Amino acid sequence: MRVAVIGAGVMGLSTAYFLAKSGVEVKVFEQKYLTYGASGRNSGGITAMLDREELIPFAMRSLEMYENLPSELEFNFLFRMDGYIKVADRDEDVERLEKSLNLQRKLGVDAEIIEPQEIRDLIPDFNSSAVTFAVFSKNSGVVFPWPVVWGLAKGCRELGVEIKTHTKVHDITIGEGIRGVKAGDEFFEADVIVNSAGAWSNEMSRIAGIELGNKIMKEEICVTESIKPYLDPYLLDVSHGLYISQTSRGEIVGGITGREVEKIETKSSMDFLVKYARRVTQLIPKLKGLSILRQWSGVYDEGKDGLPVVGFSKDESFVQANGLGHWGMTIGLSLGKELAKLIIKGENPKLKPFSPERF
Ligand SMILES: Cc1cc2nc3c(=O)[nH]c(=O)nc-3n(C[C@H](O)[C@H](O)[C@H](O)COP(=O)(O)OP(=O)(O)OC[C@H]3O[C@@H](n4cnc5c(N)ncnc54)[C@H](O)[C@@H]3O)c2cc1C
Repeated sequence: MRVAVIGAGVMGLSTAYFLAKSGVEVKVFEQKYLTYGASGRNSGGITAMLDREELIPFAMRSLEMYENLPSELEFNFLFRMDGYIKVADRDEDVERLEKSLNLQRKLGVDAEIIEPQEIRDLIPDFNSSAVTFAVFSKNSGVVFPWPVVWGLAKGCRELGVEIKTHTKVHDITIGEGIRGVKAGDEFFEADVIVNSAGAWSNEMSRIAGIELGNKIMKEEICVTESIKPYLDPYLLDVSHGLYISQTSRGEIVGGITGREVEKIETKSSMDFLVKYARRVTQLIPKLKGLSILRQWSGVYDEGKDGLPVVGFSKDESFVQANGLGHWGMTIGLSLGKELAKLIIKGENPKLKPFSPERF
């Protein structure tokens, strides 16, 4: 079997790696460079404290993979399991967090309610009066996204996968007869074409003659100068959509969760900086006066119902592997592994909730 994978983000590379591990011939096409997509622009928060029942088992499996895959690939992902805190200060968010916590516990996630004052044991200088409710999971953490992409790419190449960067797929042929993708002058004949083009997946699907209709989300983020390490866990303020963590180099990385946009664009805004700085310094006053070194944004896609779209489309030679949403860096690893099984065996019940046929 020959498989063409469109997009070298976490989803495309994880799928390619596990396909190649089972002996499948795979070629990956990336329109720009490795880390160009959302997989190279995110904040690396990895947790199973998610709201959707369908995603939690995948997040739990990915957490295991974040621990084990680096030694298999002989590549350090710089993954730190230092915990994840979610806070809220609005009643409706508190209710939502409580409901999700019950669901997470039922599914075996190690998460608990903590008092806002207890956050100070985890984040010195945290202003506990700025929040009314908090949940914590110690089996969560933060990863540096670039080594994840590079490590998966290394694993793929060692298994004989060719990753063609700066090679944009511009035509796709599916159905009966000769199938494959066209990129530049090359036509790569393939039995199966995987659409893991992230925010560009709608476009790829349209070229193949299939309407996908995923939402396009844009998310802004920034990084400060380095300070002495003191912020171990990842912090998400669900009421303000704001998140923050500290890298191993001491920089504070933080952003505001994505909003739906009409078309793909990655401009950064002053509005974001003002909103982010205002809330982050309410939560952690110590960060006042810290210089922001760089800001950027990324785009990702999300299925119409908020779930990923992973599985055979109405034409079995065209496989959707997109719509991962805000938790794609978390769930992408295990989704890719399960998708490889689906492609090889022709079925995988674990992926049923994400089947494109549900629409
Ligand atoms: C600022 C930000 C913060 C985030 N924070 C988190 C977080 O803390 N935790 C978490 O779990 N997730 C987070 N996410 C979400 C996560 O990054 C994405 O869900 C995930 O990376 C999506 O992976 P992907 O492989 O589907 O897409 P991508 O990584 O975008 O990969 C798709 C690739 O396809 C390529 N491509 C597109 N069109 C073509 C074509 N025609 N030919 C060839 N190649 C093509 C693109 O160039 C791109 O590299 C965040 C995202 C952003 C932007």
